[in-house]
Amino acid sequence: MRYQRSSALFREANTVLPGGVNSPVRAFKAVGGTPVFVKEASGAHFTDEDGNRYIDYISSWGPLLFGHAFEPVLQAVIQRAKKGTSYGMPTALETELASLAVSMVPNIDKIRFVNSGTEACMSAIRLARGYTGKHKIIKFAGCYHGHADAFLIQAGSGAVTFGSPNSPGVTPGTAQDTLLARYNDLNNVRELVAANRGEIAGIILEPVAGNMGCIPPASGFLEGIRELCDEEGILLVFDEVMTGFRLAAGGAQQALNIKADITAFGKVIGGGLPVGAFAASADIMSHLAPEGPVYQAGTLSGNPLAMAAGLAMLTEMNRDPEVFERLADKTAYLHKGLEKTLQERGIPHTINRFGSMISLHFTAEAVVDFDSAALGNNPDFNRYFHGMLDRGVYLPPSAFESYFLNDALSYEDLDNTIAAAEELFSNW
Ligand code: PMP
Repeated sequence: MRYQRSSALFREANTVLPGGVNSPVRAFKAVGGTPVFVKEASGAHFTDEDGNRYIDYISSWGPLLFGHAFEPVLQAVIQRAKKGTSYGMPTALETELASLAVSMVPNIDKIRFVNSGTEACMSAIRLARGYTGKHKIIKFAGCYHGHADAFLIQAGSGAVTFGSPNSPGVTPGTAQDTLLARYNDLNNVRELVAANRGEIAGIILEPVAGNMGCIPPASGFLEGIRELCDEEGILLVFDEVMTGFRLAAGGAQQALNIKADITAFGKVIGGGLPVGAFAASADIMSHLAPEGPVYQAGTLSGNPLAMAAGLAMLTEMNRDPEVFERLADKTAYLHKGLEKTLQERGIPHTINRFGSMISLHFTAEAVVDFDSAALGNNPDFNRYFHGMLDRGVYLPPSAFESYFLNDALSYEDLDNTIAAAEELFSNW
C-alpha cells in the first residue's frame, strides 16, 4: 500500500497531537485520506516515509523560493549554529538582515523581527491602533492573517477549510472591532468606512490574496483603498507574508507600485526558519517599545539561526535578481499546460495566477473573492488533489490555498506535472 507507513505514523501522531498535526491544513481533513509524512527533501522534491517521491508545489507554503535544502541557506545555518543557537541579546546579524530588507522593500525605514506571520500581523494591527488611537480594523473575507483573535473572522486558508470562520474562543468584544469587507469590492470598503467614520485604525489585506486560492487585486482596487486611507487617516496594512520577497525583491508594493503604511512579512524573509517581521516608516515605528509605548517583544525574536537563514536567502535573490522572472515564467508554463488539458477535456475551471502564485478552481465562474472561490471547494477539487498526489505531485490539500513554485523546479518537473494532469483528466 502506497501510504502504509504514513498512515501508521498518522495514527500514532493522533494519540499525542490534536488531529495528528501541529497546523490544521496538514491533516488532509478537507480532501480526506492520510497526510503524507515527509522523510526528507531536496530542491523541488521530497520523499515520504513510504519512499514515494513527489514534486513539491507548496515549498513549505512559500518560504523556499530556491527550493528545499538550498545550499547557501544550509551553510549559513550550520556555520552559525556552531557559534550558539540563541542569546536573547543583540547581534550584528539582526541589523544586517534589517538593512538588507529595508534596502529592498519600498516605503519602509525600520523593521521589527518576530517568529511567525501571525505575530507580524497581530503586532502590525496593534501598532496601527496605537498610532491612530482608533480601535476598529477592516479585513477582507477570505484573507488570512494568522490566528490572532482579531483575524479569525471569516479568515481563508485552514480556518475556512474547517468550516469555523468564527472560531470559538474569540470573544464578541474582539469580533465587533473587526469589520468585514468583500475582496475586490471597493464600494463595499467605502460603505464600511462611511458607516464607521473616525473609528477605523487600519485596513489590512493581502495585496495579492493567497488564502482563497490565488486572487489578484482587480484594477483600481488597491489604488482606491490607498486613496480612501489617505482621505480618512486610516493606515493601510499590507500583509505580505506570502507576497513579500516572492512577487519581487520588494514584494507586492514593488510589483504593483502601491505604498502601504505598515507591512507584515513572514515565510521567505526567514529562509525556511521561523521568522516574521513588520515594518513601516521611522515615524510609525517610533511608536513601538522601547522607543514608544506600543508593546511588543519576543524571547527568540531575531534568533541568530533564523537571521542567518534569512540573510542568506535575501542575499541570494540580490545576487540573482532574475529569479522572480524565471519563477513567473515557470508558473505561466504550468498555467498553459494545465489550461490546455482542462480545455481539451471540457472540464469547467478557472486558473488564477500572479508571479509564482497560481491556483486551479473547479468552477467556470471568475474567482475574484471569497464567495466565488468557495464554488471551487467541491468533490472535483478533492479528486484532483488525490489524483495528483497518487501520481507524485504534491499540491495544496485545500481549495483555498495557492501553489508556491520554487526555482529548483525544472521544466521537466513541470512537464511531468502536466502529463500527470493529462492522465488524470483523461479518465475524469
Ligand atoms: N498572513 C498570510 C498572508 C499568510 O498566508 C499566513 C500563513 N499562511 C499568515 C499571515 C500567518 O503566518 P504564520 O502561519 O507564520 O503564523
